[in-house]
Amino acid sequence: MVKKISHIGYAVESLEEQIPFYRDILGLELTGTEEVEDQMVRVAFFSIGDTRIELLEPSSPESPIAKFMEKRGPGIHHIAYEVDDCKSAIRAMEAHGIRMIDTEPRGGAGGHKIAFAHPKATFGILTELTEEHQ
Ligand code: ZN
Repeated sequence: MVKKISHIGYAVESLEEQIPFYRDILGLELTGTEEVEDQMVRVAFFSIGDTRIELLEPSSPESPIAKFMEKRGPGIHHIAYEVDDCKSAIRAMEAHGIRMIDTEPRGGAGGHKIAFAHPKATFGILTELTEEHQ
């Protein structure tokens, strides 16, 4: 069902503080930053081979990323798998009894269609399905 890892999302307290590590020390290409208002996050995108690392900084204390860090601290937040068709991937997950947070695709960073599965249904790893916007 999945084609590759689309990206890995890291919960961070400050983009400004962490960007230099990935850009200047690891030498990854910073391909952009974006604010995703409905998720209350600022995102920095780094390209690494055929995939990405996304740094996610909360833009509000109400942000799901802020709540995640309250419980677990900064670190790996989710892994995103690329699929051809987000909607049919959701249906396939549901057909196997996997509980979805998003039962319909919604808009994510970069204009992609995304959906999250419930981490309790995916062994503690918050799992995103991403249909890349072409
Ligand atoms: Zn993501």
